[in-house]
Amino acid sequence: MNKSQLQQHDREHLLHPFTDFHDLGNQGTRVITSAEGAYITDIDGHKMLDGMSGLWCCNLGYSRREISEAIYEQLNKLPFYNSFFQCTTVPSIELADMLAEVTPAGMNNVFFTGSGSEANDTNLRIIRRYWDLKEQPEKRIVISRKNAYHGSTIGGASLGGMSGMHKQFQSLDYIEHIQQPYWFGEGGDMSPEEFGVHAARCLDEKIQELGPEKVAAFIAEPIQGAGGVIIPPETYWPEIKKVLDQYDILLVMDEVIFGFGRTGEWFGADYYGMKPDLMTFAKAVTNGYFPLGGTMVSDRVAEVIKAKGGEFTHGYTYSAHPAACMAGIATLNILREEKIIETVRDTTGPYLAKRWAELADHPIVGEARTLGLVGALELVKDKNSRARFDDDCTAGGVCRDMSIKNGLVMRATGDTMIIAPPLILTIEQIDELVEKAHRALDDTARAMA
Ligand SMILES: *Cc1c(COP(=O)(O)O)cnc(C)c1O
Repeated sequence: MNKSQLQQHDREHLLHPFTDFHDLGNQGTRVITSAEGAYITDIDGHKMLDGMSGLWCCNLGYSRREISEAIYEQLNKLPFYNSFFQCTTVPSIELADMLAEVTPAGMNNVFFTGSGSEANDTNLRIIRRYWDLKEQPEKRIVISRKNAYHGSTIGGASLGGMSGMHKQFQSLDYIEHIQQPYWFGEGGDMSPEEFGVHAARCLDEKIQELGPEKVAAFIAEPIQGAGGVIIPPETYWPEIKKVLDQYDILLVMDEVIFGFGRTGEWFGADYYGMKPDLMTFAKAVTNGYFPLGGTMVSDRVAEVIKAKGGEFTHGYTYSAHPAACMAGIATLNILREEKIIETVRDTTGPYLAKRWAELADHPIVGEARTLGLVGALELVKDKNSRARFDDDCTAGGVCRDMSIKNGLVMRATGDTMIIAPPLILTIEQIDELVEKAHRALDDTARAMA
């Protein structure tokens, strides 16, 4: 099939995730045909630096044969066996061991799933089971945050706080949402430090309002990813910690994006010095080469759910899929052997921070922020008032298209441009990324004028 035939068949038969089918039908899809290192190429031969690591998952880029070969060998040896009914497979045990080593101290058990959404559903099941076994069944409510992303199953989407999603389904009724720590968008006249404390105190207020005896858990991404790379002010997590220490409430950190090195530490929990009770992971655990997710379970929770008898009636056919686990093992081996995370912490992260900050001088940029190898740009019409171009956030879409034209994949969340490039990026490739982003901003400024 040639390009237009592919686009036509795509239109006729494929329903895409998070897509306006009508728009897509009119514009046609971009057909991506190959990838190498940190670059992807489309069917027209247009090569782009992938500033989004696929969908936050291909952190080691696209050319890691160690991972594809590990999967292939496993598929030939034992392509599938389940881990129900007192069965197990060697790769699942080995990956569980490795995860216990690289995750924060006190997290030594893993429940595998096929994705991040499923893992957050699993969290809801574990939270309920834990409090039931502790004979506190009235602890039911889970507090999350507005504009959070926790996946797209009913459980994941209920936990998430995106209003556009909530309009299209019936949310679980035991989930509550508080303010997000988005200083640029919601901080008003407060300093970032004041606003960080303010946003964290919202958790305390919500707990008081609901009654601590009814609150089971608080879930949060260390940094909101899909919500627009919202890096909380430095005061936020320490204050959240203070609030949680006062009450008997579980902390779930959703590390689906920030796990496995994106901040320059293994996990966002390490970066912020937090001790979660449950920790969701997916995406980069296999470098995107095979679907795999899971939740790390702290000793505090594992002891309860393991010690008390009775079946935990939950699991998925593909929980601990052996080929997925082999992909995870190969990925973690590369991260460790090539000191990828240390390089992000010591070299490429600080370099990106310095270069990205230069973009803040651009006339349509209200803020340029980074942490590790993740970054965001706030597009504004007026730098001082932070006024956007329009209510429909058209500047973001324009900038995304301009960026692709200039050979860089950036994503738009409203009028916030975001990047999360592969962790293997070199200094020269960071220069290339910043230069292409700059050109995209120039083109956007012209188009919006
Ligand atoms: C992507 C994502 C999920 C959902 O993962 P899927 O594998 O798409 O189900 C959950 N939480 C966060 C923070 C994510 O970014």
